[in-house]
Order: sequence, then structure tokens, then C-alpha cells
Amino acid sequence: MNAPQDVSDALARLRALQAADLPVHGGRTLAYVYDSGLPDVDRIGREAVAAYAGSNGLDPTAFPSLLRMENDLVGFALGLLDGPESAVGTVTSGGTESVLLAVQAARDAHPEVTEPRMVLPATAHAAFHKAAHYFGVEPVLVPVGAGFAADVAATEAAVDEARHRTVLVVGSAPSYAHGVVDPVTELAAIAAARGIRCHVDACIGGWVLPYAARLGRDVPPWTFAVDGVTSISVDLHKYGYAPKGTSLLLHRTPELRRPQFFASAAWPGYTMLNSTMQSTKSGGPLAGAWAVVESLGDTGYELLSRQVFEAVDAIVAGAADIAGVSVLVPPQSTLVALVTDDSCDAFTVCDEMAARGWYVQPQMSYAGTPPTVHLSVSAATGAHVAELLAALRDSVAAAQGSGPVSVDPDVVAFIEALDPHALTDDDFDGLLTASGLVADGADGLALPDRMAGVNALLDVASPSMREALLVAFLDRLSRPHRR
Ligand SMILES: *Cc1c(COP(=O)(O)O)cnc(C)c1O
Repeated sequence: MNAPQDVSDALARLRALQAADLPVHGGRTLAYVYDSGLPDVDRIGREAVAAYAGSNGLDPTAFPSLLRMENDLVGFALGLLDGPESAVGTVTSGGTESVLLAVQAARDAHPEVTEPRMVLPATAHAAFHKAAHYFGVEPVLVPVGAGFAADVAATEAAVDEARHRTVLVVGSAPSYAHGVVDPVTELAAIAAARGIRCHVDACIGGWVLPYAARLGRDVPPWTFAVDGVTSISVDLHKYGYAPKGTSLLLHRTPELRRPQFFASAAWPGYTMLNSTMQSTKSGGPLAGAWAVVESLGDTGYELLSRQVFEAVDAIVAGAADIAGVSVLVPPQSTLVALVTDDSCDAFTVCDEMAARGWYVQPQMSYAGTPPTVHLSVSAATGAHVAELLAALRDSVAAAQGSGPVSVDPDVVAFIEALDPHALTDDDFDGLLTASGLVADGADGLALPDRMAGVNALLDVASPSMREALLVAFLDRLSRPHRR
């Protein structure tokens, strides 16, 4: 056992390590983190996580407070999302787990279907592709229409191509990349008419869109008020402003949820009984989310939604006055996608914003849509919109000054000659050398300060090549540090 000073030293070292991370407070990180801007709410959430860090959600009878908090959160969400009396839900570890379980439950509700498929708008979150990969459900991607919303007629045709193998139809409220709410009424009707489940992925919008509607903003219907919607995913660790590690998966009836649950008595230990993918699970995130939701309540969320939508409107109006960038599509929620004209490029704009203390997220080109700059706007950003717009104006000017980033044609040729399905370590090393962008030194990979060159390189690669390169990259990053 180490001496007490080593314990406090460990915490000091932890804080020193953390200094290299993106800030989670201040409203200047416009992806990954969601900041209410309310230090008390944040503190309460953190204290609740700490108080429950050692508790175990494996057995709800052993930790009844966890079951109580879960049922409270589900009840609050169903009130927000027009859940009928029959509706039920589960707290999961995040949006991806909610999506995975929605797909798994849809698959397992039809054991007679040997080659299940699900019909998705091409804008659906990558979590559905992960679910497809994990659970062997074929993803049928339907290109979206001009406004980036799901194409209803094409969805219907895709469902009917193999109706008896289709176990799920999906819509987003909104899509992550473009912030567009799909025509859920029409999608759910297509599914319901054929007895197919319809999942609405409201991971990012579920906790703000109900308030947007209440504030008089134009939001197409997408909740359980829409006939045919069988399940909804909504993240607490996004616009619930809860600490990381919680999302909700809600089902219209207990029967729809049943295949999600798993029990096993096929071993000599305790009978395993799980509602989610985890078995032992910390009660910390659940307690943190409960404490935040209880302290903010409906009025608190309405106020935060008012702030965030004022910020979104101001950003959209301000961006219209900056030559060189424009919004890709008018945002229906709290997500803004900016596109550049030919005078500059999105990746350099992201780097320039980072140099000015703002983290905005680069999105690659996809299916004919150019690269974009993604902003998940938080309530805390509201107080700094003028600074954000000034930084954007300066960043665009700087990016215009340096001109659009380009990729060496030899490097393009190198990438095009590689097979993404058989990418070797030598190929990856060759690419590092050829591009000169990422140094592979004794301390592992060293990323450049400016990422535009790397992003532009990935952008010229095909989607499957991007995946292969990033997996190889992650492999190199994730190596033990031994002493
Ligand atoms: C964030 C998000 C997810 C995945 O959620 P994680 O919490 O990152 O696992 C799924 N769908 C949408 C629309 C999202 O925005």
C-alpha cells in the first residue's frame, strides 16, 4: 500500500493529465460535451456520481434506490415524450447502447426471420451500423431527399423490397450530422401498416425538441404521440445536461421491451438477469442523471432550451453575414452544420477555431455532401455567441488566407492503391511516411497541432478506407505504457 501522500499525489497528477483535454465547461466545446452553464447543477451531478460510484445496478432488489431512480427518470421522460400509460423504459449507458438494444429487441422479436434487415435513412447515426455489425441485421440505407430528411416514398419501396425480413424502420429526431428531423409520422405509418417496429433515434434531440415545440418553434411530430412509433432513444448525457453515462430506451408497451431483457440460469452462480448489455453496472451515472433532472425539473429545462435556441438563432443569423460560410440546412434543433464555399475549406476553419479556443467538429464529405463544420450548441454557449461569431469570422478569413487544404496527388495515388479490407501495418507505415503528417516516434504517434492535412487525407479516402485507416490509427494509439 502506498503512503497517504501518494494518494493525494495521484489526484494531483490526474488533474495535470486532464489539463490536456478539451474543456467540459464554458460553452466553447461544441461537440462531445453539453454544458448547462449552471455550476450548482453540475456539482450536484458530480456529487451524486461519487456517492453511487461503488453501487451495483446488477440486482435491483439489492440496491432498490437505483430501481427507484430509474423508474423516476423513465416517468419524467415519458411525460416529456407523450408516452401512453402502457409505455416503459430502461436507463442505458449511452445513446449507442440504447440503439443497440432497440435493434437487438427488434431482431429477437422475430426469431423466425433468418436474415433480418432494417431500413434506415442514410443520415442515421453510425450506432445503427454498429448494431448491424454486432447483431447481424442487414442495414438498408435509403438516400435522403433534398432537405436531408428521410425520403418517405423511397423508404416504403425499400421496406417492400423484402417486407417479411424487415424488422425495423428508423427515423432521427434530429440527425446528428445535419440537425434535421425526419418525417416520423409518415415513416411510422409505413411501419405500422406492415406490423413492423419503428424506432425514433432522439438521442440528441429528445430532451430539447419538446421544449422547442412548447416555445412555439416549428417541429414536425416525432414522439409517442405519433401512431406507429414503437420505441425512442434519448440521451440524458446530452441535452439532459447529466454527467456522462446515461441514456434512455423507451418502448410503447412492455411486450415490445421483453426481448431486450436477458436471463441465464445456465451456470452454477446467481441467475443472471439483465435489462441492458452491462451486467455489473455502476449506479453512479444513474444517480448523477437523477440528481440533475430532479434539480432542473421541467422549468429548468424549459429555461435552458430557451437559452440554447436563442443561441442557435443568433449563430445562424450571424453566419449569414460571414462571406465564405453558410448553414448547410436551417437547423430544426440545436445542431448547426456549416459549409464553406471554394474560398476556404471546413477542415482549416476547424483548426483556426481551435487556435482561438473553440472546439468545433469536422465532418467528412459523404454521398455528395461536402465536408462540414458541426456545432452542438449548449445552453452555456448562449453567453458567448458574439465571441463565437467573431472567432468564426476571423477563422474563415484566416482559412481564406491560407487557401483550401490540398492532398499531394502522390499520396492520393498511394491511398487509392491500398485495399481497405487487407490494410497491413506496412501499408499504414508507408502512408505515414508518404504523407509526413503523423510522426511515429518512440513515444507513439504524435498528432500535428493542425489536423486539416490529416482530415483532408481521410476525406479523399473512400468510407471503407477511412474506417480501415482510423482502426489502424487507434491500434497504434492504444499501446500500454509500462514501467
Ligand atoms: C449521440 C448520438 C447517438 C449515440 O450516442 P452515444 O451517447 O454517443 O453513444 C446516437 N444517435 C444520435 C442521433 C446521436 O446524436
